[in-house]
Amino acid sequence: MPEQSIEVECSHCHEAAHYKLGHDSDIDEALTHLKGKTQIQIKSIIKNHKLDKAEYGYALYACPKCLSLYNPYDVRVEYDEIMLFQPFYKCQQCNITLTKAKQPYTDYICKECGQN
Ligand SMILES: [Zn+2]
Ligand SMILES: [Zn+2]
Repeated sequence: MPEQSIEVECSHCHEAAHYKLGHDSDIDEALTHLKGKTQIQIKSIIKNHKLDKAEYGYALYACPKCLSLYNPYDVRVEYDEIMLFQPFYKCQQCNITLTKAKQPYTDYICKECGQN
């Protein structure tokens, strides 16, 4: 699936927020989007372990408490038949773990007017 962009329009202020979704074709491409500890860990898995399955690309996550949307570059790597590497994302305001956002995305908080 190539990278695509989605638009979520607020029903209050009609401001449209744009988010990226979709996957890159290879893990080297994916690595260019990843930073810091996550990038180092994935590189080490590729080098030192048997990679079984890798999924990566922009995804929409949301805070279950304040309903803010986040658009991280997500990665999930299965290796050595039983191991799984997947980073967790936290809400910058609430410091709790984000969960995958569900449709309709208009149920989440608008960054412009703060309503949903
Ligand atoms: Zn709004
Ligand atoms: Zn939050």
